[in-house]
Amino acid sequence: MDINEFRKNAHRAVDWIADYYENIEKFPVKSQVAPGDIYKRLKSQPPANGESFERIFDDFQNIIMPGITHWQSPNFFAYFPANSSFPSILGEMLTAALGAQCMIWETSPAAAELEEMTAQWLGRMIGLPSEFHGVIQDTASTATLVSLLTARELASDFEINKHGYAGSKFRVYCSAEAHSSIEKDVKIAGIGRDNLVKIPADSNFAMIPSELRKAIEMDIAAGLQPLAIVAALGTTSSCAIDPLDEISRIAERYRLWLHVDAAYAGSALVLDEYRPWLQGIGRVDSFVFNPHKWMFTNFDCSVYFVRNKEALIRTFEIMPEYLKTGSDTHVKNYRDWGVQLGRRFRALKLWFVIRSFGTEGIKSIIRKHIENIQTIKKLMESENDFEILAPVNLNLICFRYHPDGIENQNELNHLNEKILQKINSTGEIYMTHTKLAGNYVMRLVAGQTHVEMRHLDRAWEIIRASARNMT
Ligand SMILES: *Cc1c(COP(=O)(O)O)cnc(C)c1O
Repeated sequence: MDINEFRKNAHRAVDWIADYYENIEKFPVKSQVAPGDIYKRLKSQPPANGESFERIFDDFQNIIMPGITHWQSPNFFAYFPANSSFPSILGEMLTAALGAQCMIWETSPAAAELEEMTAQWLGRMIGLPSEFHGVIQDTASTATLVSLLTARELASDFEINKHGYAGSKFRVYCSAEAHSSIEKDVKIAGIGRDNLVKIPADSNFAMIPSELRKAIEMDIAAGLQPLAIVAALGTTSSCAIDPLDEISRIAERYRLWLHVDAAYAGSALVLDEYRPWLQGIGRVDSFVFNPHKWMFTNFDCSVYFVRNKEALIRTFEIMPEYLKTGSDTHVKNYRDWGVQLGRRFRALKLWFVIRSFGTEGIKSIIRKHIENIQTIKKLMESENDFEILAPVNLNLICFRYHPDGIENQNELNHLNEKILQKINSTGEIYMTHTKLAGNYVMRLVAGQTHVEMRHLDRAWEIIRASARNMT
């Protein structure tokens, strides 16, 4: 492809993108293909000679698109969103065009300095104290790993980095409702899954601080070494909010590292009404939230904030001869702020997003998403055969269909599983499920950038009809 063909094809691709967004509601939200369908249609050998853009693009439309689940559809109500927006897409296109590998300041000073500034903007936007230093990671899973490794190194006086483990008995605490990434990170960090203590949650699915204190005391009595607590602001199942203030006091009392996982709900902190959740933030060591979930920024973009940046850098720093530069002492080399050496220029799309929407624009969309779900919540509450099984803290409802005459949990679980399958097979909307206290619940989460009340009204209609036609 020469530059003239590139120019022509790029215009075509952009037109395709605009058409796609115009027509996105016409696609089945959840891809309806069966396992292997796409693989079977792909050529088993790579082409020996280059093919035309037309042919590749045709195959993209005919072979690839049927196997795509449309995360940017306003009828996508599954998982948590990984939303996007037009300014973000443009930022991502330019990032691809620059193709810069932003491992250190010298490899693109603008990338390092824009990352520093956009992270600072975000910290201010969500009300973090100014002592926090931000860095963009790929995902919250990585950010939490980075946090636990820093805690581990601080606690071992950086000995484990040097000599490996020598019989330390670290313990990490999170709620029973915490995200699976914490368990994965504890495994990777060498702490061991058995040393992740899952603290019981209350009837709102939030961590019970007195149980946390009890677990720590028991571990100390048993000669183990409490290391860190991970508190969740917005669990993945039900968006439960752990009581940070009380947890942070426990962390302080026992001198434990405290990490906050606000991967999804962190975006809601742009709104003053949710700031009380941050009470205790003065005693928090690190904090993560994902603009790639609910702040209109393409995956991936997860912002990690840490108070003790010296400890972070000491944990990850490397200085091989070939990476030494004359400016190392007075610039930020983000390769030392996490796992990766090579880094994408992720700050660019974030900068496009924040500048395009403005902080007020971001607030108003997030507020609208929350209001929309609160409206559906009221409608759901007015129907006797639907049940909401967790507090609706933001824009997620966990509910089930519960008609008269069925009281057996297994039977209800089975019924709701069937209903969800039926809903998703319509292709009109897409939802996923979780289990809360053993109950199978459907999750309706509305956070796609362009979702409106009309989409939710229609979803609610489909949910009611599908459920009532099952029984
Ligand atoms: C989504 C989520 C994660 C994991 O996010 P990734 O960025 O995909 O690693 C972690 N914690 C919570 C609470 C989440 O909702």
